[in-house]
Amino acid sequence: MQYSNGTDVRVPSARDQAPQPAVIALRRIAGTLPHDMTASADGLALATRDLRKSYGSRLALAGLDISVPTGVVYGFLGPNGAGKTTTMRLLTGLIHPDHGSIELLGRPFSGRDRRRLFDIGALVETPSFYPFLSGRENLRAIGASGAPTTRARIEELLELVGLRDRARDKVSGYSLGMKQRLGIAAALLSDPQLLLLDEPANGLDPAGIVAIRETLRHLAAEGKTVFVSSHLLAEVQQMADVIGIIAAGRLVREGSMIELLHGADLVRVKVAPHEVASAAERLVSLPGQDGVEPSADEGWLTVRIAANRAADVNRALADAGIYAARLEAGSDLEELFLALTADEAVSHEGTFQSISTAKAPESDR
Ligand code: ATP
Repeated sequence: MQYSNGTDVRVPSARDQAPQPAVIALRRIAGTLPHDMTASADGLALATRDLRKSYGSRLALAGLDISVPTGVVYGFLGPNGAGKTTTMRLLTGLIHPDHGSIELLGRPFSGRDRRRLFDIGALVETPSFYPFLSGRENLRAIGASGAPTTRARIEELLELVGLRDRARDKVSGYSLGMKQRLGIAAALLSDPQLLLLDEPANGLDPAGIVAIRETLRHLAAEGKTVFVSSHLLAEVQQMADVIGIIAAGRLVREGSMIELLHGADLVRVKVAPHEVASAAERLVSLPGQDGVEPSADEGWLTVRIAANRAADVNRALADAGIYAARLEAGSDLEELFLALTADEAVSHEGTFQSISTAKAPESDR
């Protein structure tokens, strides 16, 4: 594996090694794992129950219940303002809930017992460091104030995140991506059983994003639990075993990735723009389809049908004398996410409008 500066890293690929975490997660969900492989009696590394938090009159969490099985990568998703960072801050004791409970690694967490956080690695919001100290000195300072850490561990982590060559430089001269990587090293310092990461890919380049994905998969393969919030749906789709989607401070869906994407299969097909209507008419008569919708992209149609039926879609169009210019098949987390969160995103704090859908204010018309 490589980090963004091209440094070879000792950590082997997770997928090559241990049992697949997805399998572990599914077996846990199905209740078929031996009891001793779980952190708590119910097999959960992290759970919140009826968690509520307001900032003044603004409701951020409206009774959040999440259940994170041990030994998985859990993707925590939600639109802007859904309450992800608030949840992360509650889980790390930075703020206190108005109501509800948190259980971390099988024990209640009140937020006041900061020593509990030695078992937990966290990267929440922008990592803050002493700018006048080097990366290495910052890790030593963090190690000195937390769980005991060896120098070898610090060197190992500097290597892992690709900062070994810049470890003597002051953090004030680090780029955003370097600070983020140092933050990930800091979160891993105590070799925690539970890792809480808020948007860990922030500021990382594509190679860094791939490396962090592999690192997190590796940790889950070792039996550790990774709770990661992200806006990058495609990334979460590749990385997470289990996902929780929140909107307006509430959980709207939680489950294994496989389970959630079951039924979210679709085939996208591109035809000439003047043939969209006749293609849609032909495709609605295709057995097994569950809906055909023209897409906002000109000439594209989305057919809700098992991804392995792409050839049937192509054949049906060809039989009607319509020839597809492109065809894509797969399960789409983005579609599921938008379907589950659209109303809440708009009502809670507004959302970005695309140029094609944004309306001019009344006064401009
Ligand atoms: P984003 O994806 O944009 O980071 P988020 O899912 O992390 O959003 P939060 O930052 O937890 O959402 O915010 C949840 C709600 O709480 C939002 O409506 C936000 O405006 C509000 N909020 C968050 N922090 C504060 C604060 N310190 N004071 C007042 N309101 C806040």
